Amino acid sequence: MLIIASNNPHKLIEIKAILGGCFDEIVSMQEAGIVHETIEDGETFLQNALKKAREIAEISGCPALADDSGICVDALGGAPGVLSARFCGVHGDDEANNRLLLEKLSHTENRGAHFACAIALAYPDGSAVTAEGRLYGEIAREEKGANGFGYDPLFYLPEYNMTSAEISPEEKNRISHRGKALRALLQKLNP
Ligand code: IMP
Repeated sequence: MLIIASNNPHKLIEIKAILGGCFDEIVSMQEAGIVHETIEDGETFLQNALKKAREIAEISGCPALADDSGICVDALGGAPGVLSARFCGVHGDDEANNRLLLEKLSHTENRGAHFACAIALAYPDGSAVTAEGRLYGEIAREEKGANGFGYDPLFYLPEYNMTSAEISPEEKNRISHRGKALRALLQKLNP
């Protein structure tokens, strides 16, 4: 049994869809009956993903997989980065985060950005395997699309002429930072 060390329902859906039949049984922390909040105080996505996965593997005695991800905006020197979920000061307020991002970029033509994702798979003995992925795009001037979560309505993909909230969930999983990181992890597990 593999436990996904996340309480974010959107990430859970994406991770389960991407990992598909690669593990016998994939369960969320809630399904495994684990209530735990990791303090995400790492300076990098990788440090946070490792911390979350290791804590849940130790508590549960099962392998645990964690995702730490966010958006890095060129004009903001890579911010909000690891602070993406709480950019506006309140954890997980997507609407306020997106509003603040638009405000901060209102006076610049430099719209380059990327999503970054670090995945860590930790075992109860403390060992771990990690992988990372990125998706490059631009910050749009207004929100568009109803799929995805977080910054997706503002994340414009020039090659699609759509935001990552407008493309289908299947297409997002195929190209996303999370999809890339998870497939790189699978490659390391089964070379
Ligand atoms: P975490 O739970 O600390 O990893 O926070 C991740 C945050 O980054 C989320 O709350 C979103 O704001 C943002 N984020 C990460 N991945 C995505 C994505 O695929 N689409 C949109 N926003 C994302």
